Amino acid sequence: KPVKKAEYLLSAPDLDHCPAGDKPEICFAGRSNVGKSSLINALTRRKRLAHTSNSPGKTRNLNYYVIDDSWYLVDLPGYGYAKISKKEQARWGREMKRYLLERKTLELVVVIVDIRHKPSVLDEEFMFWLAENGIPFCIILNKTDKISKTRVLQQKAAVSALLENMNIEVPVFTVSAQTPETIDDFFAFAMDFMQD
Ligand code: GDP
Repeated sequence: KPVKKAEYLLSAPDLDHCPAGDKPEICFAGRSNVGKSSLINALTRRKRLAHTSNSPGKTRNLNYYVIDDSWYLVDLPGYGYAKISKKEQARWGREMKRYLLERKTLELVVVIVDIRHKPSVLDEEFMFWLAENGIPFCIILNKTDKISKTRVLQQKAAVSALLENMNIEVPVFTVSAQTPETIDDFFAFAMDFMQD
């Protein structure tokens, strides 16, 4: 089991309420409903550590989990949720950017995308923004169980081509939250990355 211990710590409305930067952290980002919570549960092999839901966009907080007493896993609020006002969305965009730029102990951002759809304009802009600001990230294409193996390869190639177009070189992982072992490669990469 890759993760031995996982505990929910706190929910922070913004950077100022995040815990003391006493551990390195990795954050999960992506549109609402891509499966961030499900992936946290799969990664930690816990059924309900993070609350999954069919009503996207409910969590507007940064949710902190302590993993193996040694690092933080942070669930960022999903972006692009249409049912909140433009003004709220803009405010959240600013808060997220502030966290991503100023959180000194943040080591890696994981951009999660639903593999069935090509990355949205928002996803593309987000990836470009991360690259532009020199924030290390990787990509997880989730929900591979929903499409054929051939289609998984096609979608992965499409995302790789998109990244190449933007001159961005980052790893792309294909996983399903329903099959926790599919996340092991990503996990090994993330642990190596934090060591360096
Ligand atoms: P979040 O908003 O990004 O945290 O997304 P959730 O983890 O709440 O997942 C949104 C919905 O997608 C839920 O109904 C999940 O059960 C479902 N889901 C998430 N990951 C997968 C996956 O890999 N495969 C399938 N089939 N469903 C998934």
